Amino acid sequence: DWFQAPALKRVMTLLNSGGAETRVVGGAVRNSLMGLPVGDIDLATTLLPEEVSGRAAAKGIKAVPTGIEHGTVTLVVDGKGYEVTTLRRDVETNGRHAQVAFGATWQEDADRRDLTINALYVGADGEVVDLVGGLKDIETKTVRFIGDAEQRIAEDYLRVLRFFRFFAHYGSGRPDTDGLKACARARTQLKTLSAERVWSEIKKLLSARDPGRALLWMRQSGVLTEILPETEKWGIDAIPGLIAAEQALGWEPDALLRLCSIVPKDAARLVTLSERLRLSNAEALALDRFARAPKPQETVTDVAFDRDLYRFGKDGMISMLKLELASARARAEGDQKAMARSARLFSLLRRAEGFVRPVLPIKGADVLAAGIPAGPKVGEILGKLEEGWIASQFNLSREDLLARIKALVGS
Ligand code: ATP
Ligand code: MG
Repeated sequence: DWFQAPALKRVMTLLNSGGAETRVVGGAVRNSLMGLPVGDIDLATTLLPEEVSGRAAAKGIKAVPTGIEHGTVTLVVDGKGYEVTTLRRDVETNGRHAQVAFGATWQEDADRRDLTINALYVGADGEVVDLVGGLKDIETKTVRFIGDAEQRIAEDYLRVLRFFRFFAHYGSGRPDTDGLKACARARTQLKTLSAERVWSEIKKLLSARDPGRALLWMRQSGVLTEILPETEKWGIDAIPGLIAAEQALGWEPDALLRLCSIVPKDAARLVTLSERLRLSNAEALALDRFARAPKPQETVTDVAFDRDLYRFGKDGMISMLKLELASARARAEGDQKAMARSARLFSLLRRAEGFVRPVLPIKGADVLAAGIPAGPKVGEILGKLEEGWIASQFNLSREDLLARIKALVGS
């Protein structure tokens, strides 16, 4: 049981002596009450940040000031981080960030949080403290803003996306009506948020076991079009088929693949998306590789398919194949053609996963050594050699290729 872990006990004992009070809050309490795995542990405390650091130092516990202006100190015990934040209230908010003041009460600390399910505390005695009606919302799996939804959203527009993210992970049935209405009304303000915060929320939302319902409500409220206009033409209809395929075939949930399934497979538009949301280089590259991977013909030979794997890269090809397969599977019931295509795609996917990219057995230096002067001609010749090597199904040897250089120079 996470609450009995010696490291947490040690932190709680340290921060609950001498009149101080410290409680676990946020995701750990929420997940534990819902019977879900507990990840990071956040704590709220009556101690000031420098008091937290001081107590830690006295016991030889590492304390990292991870957000000192927000009152957050991370204590590291047994290699695990505990984020300890001083009770605070928002004194000024502008829709993008809040100015906070310390010396708040537990009620004030709860009230400045976003959702009722995120504002439950567990004290040193193990009792749940509910100051905002979060317990009943945990029971009914209701994602609800604390206080007036519209006002809470105006303080920080990211809460629109958090509402849908937490609904995707923890909600059931329809989203809370007031929350949904307030999100729809605030949608045009989402463009004022930083791209990093938005992308991080989108990824977390798309990582839910099944983000399908949340995406439907986001589309219905106009929020999806604001943050992902690329989905407008394409739609989100591919999501249920992808989730079904993931579950049937044991694929790990993959936020980027899910994104690929709801945007057009178009390199230029995906570049725009990557730049707008400031994706990492690796993420942008993955989208680009997906966009460029050609969909296989039914009749593709293994040889021709391997050439595509070499040319376009295995990762992009795998993403493309998974989406093609998911879509074929979704249509397969009572449709012979789709069933046959799905079987073929399945075996191509196997082949792609086992593909080891061969290495061209010749380098620019070999071309130079053959007497070609340094310059653009070297790359040109190398390119032609590679084409011939690919066409030979990677069978031409180094000697074969060296012999070809002469012929190419002559031409
Ligand atoms: P998880 O870590 O599982 O994603 P969490 O609920 O712990 O979920 P964090 O981002 O770690 O989420 O934030 C910890 C707590 O801080 C939240 O539970 C919530 O009470 C509060 N919080 C975080 N972001 C906001 C926000 N934008 N507005 C209001 N409260 C917030
Ligand atoms: Mg957390």
